[in-house]
Amino acid sequence: MAMKLHELTIHKACGLLAQKEISSQELTRAVLSRIEAVEDRVGAYISVFEEEAMARAKRADREISKGHIRPLTGIPLSIKDLICTKGLKTTCGSKILENFIPPYDATLIEKLKGAGAVILGKTNMDEFAMGSSTENSGLKLTRNPWDLTCIPGGSSGGSAASVAADMCLGSFGSDTGGSIRQPASHCGIIGMKPTYGRVSRFGLVAFASSLDQIGPISKDVTDCSLLMNAVSGYDLRDSTSVQAAVPDFTACLQHGLKGLKIGIPEQYHSSGGLDPDVSASVENALKVLEGLGAECVGVSLPHTDYVVAVYYVIASCEASSNLARYDGVRFGFRDEGQTDLIQMYRQTRSRGFGEEVQRRIIIGTYALSAGYYDAYYGKASQVRTLIGQDFNNAFNTCDVLISPVASTPAFKIGEKVDDPLTMYLSDVFTLAANLAGIPGMSVPCGFSAGGLPIGLQIMGKHFNEELLLKVAYNFEQASDFHKKRPVL
Ligand code: GLN
Repeated sequence: MAMKLHELTIHKACGLLAQKEISSQELTRAVLSRIEAVEDRVGAYISVFEEEAMARAKRADREISKGHIRPLTGIPLSIKDLICTKGLKTTCGSKILENFIPPYDATLIEKLKGAGAVILGKTNMDEFAMGSSTENSGLKLTRNPWDLTCIPGGSSGGSAASVAADMCLGSFGSDTGGSIRQPASHCGIIGMKPTYGRVSRFGLVAFASSLDQIGPISKDVTDCSLLMNAVSGYDLRDSTSVQAAVPDFTACLQHGLKGLKIGIPEQYHSSGGLDPDVSASVENALKVLEGLGAECVGVSLPHTDYVVAVYYVIASCEASSNLARYDGVRFGFRDEGQTDLIQMYRQTRSRGFGEEVQRRIIIGTYALSAGYYDAYYGKASQVRTLIGQDFNNAFNTCDVLISPVASTPAFKIGEKVDDPLTMYLSDVFTLAANLAGIPGMSVPCGFSAGGLPIGLQIMGKHFNEELLLKVAYNFEQASDFHKKRPVL
């Protein structure tokens, strides 16, 4: 067959598998060969489970031959390395968990296995998901497949690079403040952060528990819907998961946006640091959407100026609490050279955690300490409520909000790594959706003069992922951006 199997989308591969035109073993082998061919340059994976993947592909082929076809039977996927895989290393991109082997599967993994998927391996990330470029990984560097001198975005940079470079058919990442949407934007693919509570986080290693959410990264919108179908829903083992009805997310992929009201947040579009290629691409996308029947209205999110500060206080506080468990006693790395317990804790954590993770633990511990709690975590939580209300008010006059995902296309490796504040500011468009708990997604909407992809962010009301998918699908059908692939 002349077609390159690793380039397939999930929905095309499902069709070919069902018609027995290809086998899952052929498909999985093709993707594994692709990984072998480009991994040296891209650096997307921390672990590749070749044997396990081929065994599952074989099982998928047996099932297909018996006519037992499940939604993702035989489809090879990659997983961000902070989602627990039973018996298979889960590092969180950290030296402290470099050899950690979870004794159980995350609900997400159980669901994917239940849907018939083949897990290829685990992808690189900023350590404990703290970062926007994947440069904070304690284990390796990931490069943007469109330009190997640029970052792939982060923290799910390995997942996004693996999808963009056809080193899997789709992937799952986590998004605490943009970590699915921003790398998807920088790599020219689709990324969705579902509503807080939509997808179970049982078995997701926690960064900031009130913000973390798992979601899909895919080559197109249809694949995103298929992946959402497979993993959404209430889970008894995640007390923050919500008992909301799960629709068939492919049913909303229909043409026509007549009557849709798109809100344009005035604060976002007047943002000073916006790259001209990004703003031109977003403007152009809005014209395309208007041409499809949508109407644009101006809305205001008056507390936007506080978003970055509120996020970095809340996320760091929660991280300092969640990461207290890595003490060298229960699991993960231990500095064996110590005889004193306190010294052992100190050395384990100093040697095991990277600089950025230590910075956040220190900020978070300080902000939560007696005498400061009210001034920092308490105040940030109050302002978070106001930020959420801004969205509720905006959704009184519009159905979805549209903005850039990131203020610039992917930047150069090394450019911002020594300047954490500039790195934090680059998250200005994505953080608010996590603070408000609403769904958001990134869809390719253009290229910079230098040939780097640019993403459009669509945000909607709680549990209204269907409308985001519909808008994204209509835009995708009216544009060619998703058809262009990086050349490696
Ligand atoms: N870049 C943000 C941070 O560093 C968001 C990361 C994320 O979503 N995991 O915290």
